[in-house]
Amino acid sequence: MRKGESCLKRSQRRVSKKAKGSNNRGKARYILGKHHLKISRQRKDHAVKLARCVVQSNDLIAYEDLRIKNMVKNHCLAKSINDASWYQFRVWVEYFGKVFKRVTVAVNPQYTSQECSSCKVIVKKTLSTRTHVCKCGCVMDRDENAARNILFRSLGTVGHIGTSALDVGNAWGDETSTLVGENLLEQVMS
Ligand SMILES: [Zn+2]
Repeated sequence: MRKGESCLKRSQRRVSKKAKGSNNRGKARYILGKHHLKISRQRKDHAVKLARCVVQSNDLIAYEDLRIKNMVKNHCLAKSINDASWYQFRVWVEYFGKVFKRVTVAVNPQYTSQECSSCKVIVKKTLSTRTHVCKCGCVMDRDENAARNILFRSLGTVGHIGTSALDVGNAWGDETSTLVGENLLEQVMS
C-alpha cells in the first residue's frame, strides 16, 4: 500500500504542475482518480481477505470496541488507522462471523493495554513502551498482554449472551454458550 502511495503522490504532483483548466490537467486528474480508486480497492480486498481468514480459523474473535473516529483525531495514529481500514475490517469480521457461525465479540477497550493480564493490576505505559513489565513477574509484549485482556473480557461477555445486546446469540444457544465460554476460559487460564 505504501508503494501505491508514492504512485499517488507522483500523479498528484503532475496534476498540480499543469495549468488550471487545461486539457492536460484534466488528463492528469483522470489518472489521479484511477490511482485513488485502485488503492481503495486494494484496501478493501485486503480487509475482506484478512477478515475471512481470521474468522475461518478461529471459533471466537474478540476485539476492542474502538471509537475509530476518535482515534483518527489523534494525529499520530490517524494515518495507520485509516490505512488499515479498521472500520471496514471490523464490519467484514462481523459479517463473516455470521456467515461461518463464529462468535464475534467487541469488548470495552478501557485499560486493555495498561492492565496486567496476569494479576489485573494497572501498569501505566505510554504508546512507545512496547513491553509490559509487571511487579508480579509478568513480562510480555504489550500487544500480547492487551490481546490476553481482550480475550479474557470477551469470554466474560460470551457467558452472558442471553441478556447481552451483542448479536452473538444466533451462533450459540444460552446454555451451550456458557459452556463453551467456560471451556475456552479454562484453556486460556492453563
Ligand atoms: Zn501483574
